[in-house]
Amino acid sequence: MRIADRMRDLGTETAFAVADRASAQAAFGAAVYPFHLGDLNFRTPRNIAEAAYLAIKEGKTGYCPNAGIAPLRAALAADVNARRGTSYTADNVSIQPGGKPVIGKFIQTLMNPGDEVLFPSPGYPIYESQIRYFGGKALPYGFVAKEGTFRIDLEGLERSISPRTRLIIVNDFHNPTGAVCSPEEQGELAKIVRRHDLVALLDEAYFEIHYAGVPRSIVSQPGMAERSVLLYTFGKKFAMTGWRLGAAIGPAEVIALITRLNVNNESCSAHFVQYAGLEALRGGQGEYEKMLKELRERRDAALSILNSIPGVSCFSPVASFYLYPDVTELMDKKGFGGDYAAFAEDVLVRAGVSFCTRIHFGEPLPGENRHYLRLAFSGIGLEGIRAGLNRLREYAAGCQEARD
Ligand code: PMP
Repeated sequence: MRIADRMRDLGTETAFAVADRASAQAAFGAAVYPFHLGDLNFRTPRNIAEAAYLAIKEGKTGYCPNAGIAPLRAALAADVNARRGTSYTADNVSIQPGGKPVIGKFIQTLMNPGDEVLFPSPGYPIYESQIRYFGGKALPYGFVAKEGTFRIDLEGLERSISPRTRLIIVNDFHNPTGAVCSPEEQGELAKIVRRHDLVALLDEAYFEIHYAGVPRSIVSQPGMAERSVLLYTFGKKFAMTGWRLGAAIGPAEVIALITRLNVNNESCSAHFVQYAGLEALRGGQGEYEKMLKELRERRDAALSILNSIPGVSCFSPVASFYLYPDVTELMDKKGFGGDYAAFAEDVLVRAGVSFCTRIHFGEPLPGENRHYLRLAFSGIGLEGIRAGLNRLREYAAGCQEARD
């Protein structure tokens, strides 16, 4: 078959290949510690699952409005307003089958072919894939390691803006670094967006997987609600990744167009799943709080072992369920230099530890000379974390031959 030219520009999530390699290794009978999974090994809270069973029993199984059921749109607007200081109504909400579809729909609605779009690197790989697929020019912006965290390289970002730059994608509560913008950084970023008349996609998938007090959104900066679309997902907060429920939230005229894309694509998000979403927002939050407590324990346990490994250093992520350790010295010591694929394979085979690396989150930027891994602590319990990272420590110390 002759494949359409545009498919050349469609990227993927190469992290899935890491999962395949880890399963192949496990099939061998080897112990594999899965730090590559971006999924949660928590069950969806029972009250949420029961709301879905009830909705099915009550016959909520046909099509529903393209933008989502009215009570869910209203409840989500109210929830977002309470946490972000906005004043959205149901008209500002278009329910989606997950957070991910918001990325492509935002780009289709607001980008013309040839327009430039700023996106984070390292960052979630779907941004660059969708910008390129729809004919845009993808402009990466980087981060600098500073004061115990990663800060957006705002100077570099502003320098790369041209009159053709129309959109910016911001993933505060960042995958893969776990970094959160400081209030000053949020203010500076909003100034840049206003100064250059950009429109922003604010991917806040991890807004509520946050370990240091109350999260703040860039959307509450002056002028930002008018020029932003928020990516909301039920997946992380309520351990509902496989249910596929999220939303695009923003100015009503843009949201109406995004809903027209729903009409052209999936018609509507699964009807009964939306009742589960309603229960997630309105019901007790005890399970979410328990999950967050456990995630914090996992983060702290992982961090203390990682930082005890010579040649490895890791900042404490303020949000998300990812660690982004700098392993430059370890890779050098083991003779891998910048060869991530060979290093990851060696660690998998010798220590059973599976993870993603910098290159699963985009091409390293010019001048970027440190090497990083991404370790997820969402899909592995405390015991596995301790056992796996202790094996990584033995590997680093060069003891693996003795065990083999
Ligand atoms: N944005 C980011 C930064 C993510 O990491 C993810 C999922 N890993 C998503 C969006 C998409 O989430 P969902 O499962 O809701 O589509």
